Amino acid sequence: MKLQLTFTKKQGREPAIAKVVLATGALINVEKAYIESLSGEVLIDVPDADADKVCNKFRELGVDYKKLVDSVVRDESECVECGACISICPQEVFYFDDDWNLHLHAEKCVLCGKCTLSCPQRALKVRA
Ligand code: SF4
Ligand code: SF4
Repeated sequence: MKLQLTFTKKQGREPAIAKVVLATGALINVEKAYIESLSGEVLIDVPDADADKVCNKFRELGVDYKKLVDSVVRDESECVECGACISICPQEVFYFDDDWNLHLHAEKCVLCGKCTLSCPQRALKVRA
């Protein structure tokens, strides 16, 4: 499961992710980090089996988090199944089945936004 963490400037100085790893034993993978002078956002991947205890620990530490579910959505009425999104996505979110129908592993999305720019039909939306 992907979690989007939001840190204030003060929280950003605390090793919150390291504390959660130590407390839960969960293998957390940092996939994206965006740090500004007053706040920051970090996108992490957490094994599904550890998601509840990791969320509880972040809550305990006062770190805001949001579970990312269906982060990328496709308007099937607009999609022409050209495959451009398959080529551009770094996470292999999109794939064709044996009948050349497009499908999504939306849970793999890291919100980079590349697919929305590459889609000739503007059929994709990314929501954080
Ligand atoms: S790039 Fe757009 S139109 Fe092409 S397969 Fe992907 S979602 Fe469909
Ligand atoms: S936003 Fe990035 S990671 Fe997510 S589906 Fe689009 S290209 Fe892939």
